Amino acid sequence: MGILQDLTYGAAKRWIAGKDMETALAKAKEANAKGLGTILNYLGEDVTDPAVAESHFEEYVKLQRAIGSSGIDGCVSVKLTQFGLGVLDDAVVLEKARQLVEEAQGMGRMLWIDMEGSSVTTRTLQIHSKLLEGHKNVGVALQAYLRRSEDDLKALMDVGGKVRLVKGAYREPPGVTFRSREEVTENYLKLMRVLFERGQGFAVGTHDSRPIEEAVRLHESSPNTKFEFEMLRGIRDDLKLKLAGAGHRVVDYMPYGEEWYPYSVRRIKEHPSNIWLLLRSL
Ligand SMILES: Cc1cc2nc3c(=O)[nH]c(=O)nc-3n(C[C@H](O)[C@H](O)[C@H](O)COP(=O)(O)OP(=O)(O)OC[C@H]3O[C@@H](n4cnc5c(N)ncnc54)[C@H](O)[C@@H]3O)c2cc1C
Repeated sequence: MGILQDLTYGAAKRWIAGKDMETALAKAKEANAKGLGTILNYLGEDVTDPAVAESHFEEYVKLQRAIGSSGIDGCVSVKLTQFGLGVLDDAVVLEKARQLVEEAQGMGRMLWIDMEGSSVTTRTLQIHSKLLEGHKNVGVALQAYLRRSEDDLKALMDVGGKVRLVKGAYREPPGVTFRSREEVTENYLKLMRVLFERGQGFAVGTHDSRPIEEAVRLHESSPNTKFEFEMLRGIRDDLKLKLAGAGHRVVDYMPYGEEWYPYSVRRIKEHPSNIWLLLRSL
């Protein structure tokens, strides 16, 4: 497995900004030099050991400070299960997120919260809304494949929440999600229209040309709406530069860390043509 993983890294490194913070920060600077903003994510999820949750938290503290002190156009995005959500007391997780959001505020940065599997959606939104009560620099991802997201989005719009709209990347039990890709894309478009009507400072997080073109069109008719395109590192890089060249804010989401393998497998499954990248590197 060790050798196979090493070989897989040859393909995976297009999606990963490196195995350590220093390399990731250098990649963030490269993206900035191309006119892109950045979001850094330290890979890991479903942490059950409090000591590991603490070490993830400390990594993010260091990461935020390094982004601030090196003047990188960027911020971080966290997964709350990295801090033990679902296993440790919610108050412990909230406290860690609160410290990060406060430090981010001091540096004039956002703190984004990724959305994970549907078993933790409600808790993630509860923690997000507690943070939002005192801090405007926090945002949360919502997944268009979830049937509940329309209601969640409206509730977030009522309280001035900032949302990153994505399609959703987890295996979910039947009934929770829309079934076909087409339905998910239709729901994405529907929720995105709500964002353009009621939101500010939101993110269109997709590589799909259809919603991207629609967002460009909606922005033309409401040019004062503040939003950004967010895409994953290594996917549709030409489009990122094209949109940035046309004056849009485009942000490259860059994961890094030792736990790159499951993340890369998710990207491969999402787009089977990536198997060729893998085979070439093998
Ligand atoms: C910035 C950002 C943050 C995210 N955060 C979360 C989160 O918090 N929670 C969550 O569940 N999901 C998250 N995701 C993942 C998301 O849910 C989707 O799994 C992923 O973005 C693929 O969906 P898509 O919208 O790009 O559309 P798709 O319909 O999957 O893809 C549209 C087109 O994009 C290109 N493309 C998409 N994926 C790939 C790939 N892997 N390799 C090559 N080309 C590809 C292809 O051209 C494809 O035709 C995030 C995505 C982004 C961009």
